[in-house]
Amino acid sequence: MDEKFITFTIGKQKNIALIAHDGKKQELIQWCAQNQEILQGHFLCGTGTTARLVAEKTGLPVKGYNSGPLGGDQQIGAKIVEGNINFVIFFSDPLEAQPHDPDVKALLRIAQVYDIPIANNKATADFLIHSTLMNQEYNHKVINFKQKIIDRANDKSELIQ
Ligand code: PGA
Repeated sequence: MDEKFITFTIGKQKNIALIAHDGKKQELIQWCAQNQEILQGHFLCGTGTTARLVAEKTGLPVKGYNSGPLGGDQQIGAKIVEGNINFVIFFSDPLEAQPHDPDVKALLRIAQVYDIPIANNKATADFLIHSTLMNQEYNHKVINFKQKIIDRANDKSELIQ
């Protein structure tokens, strides 16, 4: 079958990644505290420092990956690719240069490729978390990576002797 897209399901319980740059950590912790009741119905993870602080300040269980500048954003991107993270709250700081800017861009890009809901500021996060879709399964179409590999390999193999 030559299907360009396959259907993925974001379950009722979302796998939510939490990330905040230093200048935005307080805002994210407050947001998590405000939305604690909703968040406790989902699975939470995050980059190292953010995960630790949110867990410490709110009591919510948050699985921690590496710190963002040490590869945490890349780990979260990889989990999106594997289908293990399907919702991202990422309070990035638009006023501060980040040493891991390429990783940040890569994460935003891969979230876009896999059609992942992602909030990069509080207003968007508020709209997302209060969406009726938070309590439902959601089917979305994601690029069929297996077919893509077959197509690409076929194209390239013609060029290789
Ligand atoms: P941190 O990483 O939670 O470890 O601070 C966040 C980031 O800067 O990407």
